[in-house]
Amino acid sequence: MATDDFLITGSGPNMTRPLALTRRLHIAALALILLSGASAPCCAGDIIAQIVERCPAQPRTFAQVTDFLHQTAETSSRVHLEVIGYSQQSRPLWLVTVTNPDRPPEEKMRLFIIARQHGNEPAGTTAALALIEHFAAAPSSLEQAVLNHLQIIAVPVANPDGAEADRRANGAGMDLNRDWVSATQPETQALQAAVEKYRPHAILDLHELPAYSKRAAYQENFLETVGASDALPSQLCAYTTAISRNISMWMSQYGYNLGVYYDYPGDSLRLCHRYLGLYQGFPTFLCEAKCGPGRPLAYRAGFHILACVVAANCLINGPVVPRRQYEQPAQVGQPPAEPAEAQLSSAAPAAPPPPTLTVQLSPWPPSRLPTPMEQSSSD
Ligand SMILES: [Zn+2]
Repeated sequence: MATDDFLITGSGPNMTRPLALTRRLHIAALALILLSGASAPCCAGDIIAQIVERCPAQPRTFAQVTDFLHQTAETSSRVHLEVIGYSQQSRPLWLVTVTNPDRPPEEKMRLFIIARQHGNEPAGTTAALALIEHFAAAPSSLEQAVLNHLQIIAVPVANPDGAEADRRANGAGMDLNRDWVSATQPETQALQAAVEKYRPHAILDLHELPAYSKRAAYQENFLETVGASDALPSQLCAYTTAISRNISMWMSQYGYNLGVYYDYPGDSLRLCHRYLGLYQGFPTFLCEAKCGPGRPLAYRAGFHILACVVAANCLINGPVVPRRQYEQPAQVGQPPAEPAEAQLSSAAPAAPPPPTLTVQLSPWPPSRLPTPMEQSSSD
């Protein structure tokens, strides 16, 4: 799995515990029904469990990913497949969109998923493909309604050379998630251009933590995003803090332990989520799934799937800011020419507003995924 040479040291002390659940909230499972006028599926079941069931036991090879994407695009009018560039070793960088093509794009929120910048972290790819497959099939009116209002945009394998070699770096030996300021690598350049083209309302960057690490922050799943700061656009902070709280709440419901870390101006921008969040002003979330005994691929992918679905739910329901107020990401400032290593932030985040689930749908039963110890011990 991933090596222990991570440099994410910023914001460690600002860990926020998940919200205490004072009342049982049935998340509005991507709840669009009231917006769309569609009827609520009375027995839709647990959408997270349904998507997780699509995860294979073992990671797909890059060739298998490519075949899967072609087959999905050929069989679903909701899926569009394009190449946004090529890796150092000339492998295609696939970008997939899933939405209702008959609905105007300007009416939709855009959720952008970046998976597997580190080639030896397959859970993000697995999660992205399961989400694509599920929403391509749109098995119920719920998913169909969601796709009237949401465009899922995913780069399921951002580092195909590394994926093929089962290693962290790309074909040039570069760590792509330290390349976002200098952008020397074709993979980083293609991702930056795609983000600029789609201007997402939220971005999730999916990673995995090594099973064993000396770093205190790497002992459990975590989420990292832009913290509340007067030096940052208030709308950006409202979005990131509210969505992170929502994700935290639902991780707790599903039995995933989660730490939440916040970034502030001054943190190194070389990492994708900080460059896109702190510098470019897109609500961006680093999602780190912890590896280890009792945490098989589907369990780690389930962590990413849950984060993506909750983020989508927040976008669709607009818990913080009406979408019209968030048309253009704000420019935060110039990145340092020679970025320092990640700094440890000391400022405590301001208390974010409580999450608001404004639309209640058919119950999204929080039938929990098995906890790590309930799963098999294979990794
Ligand atoms: Zn990673």
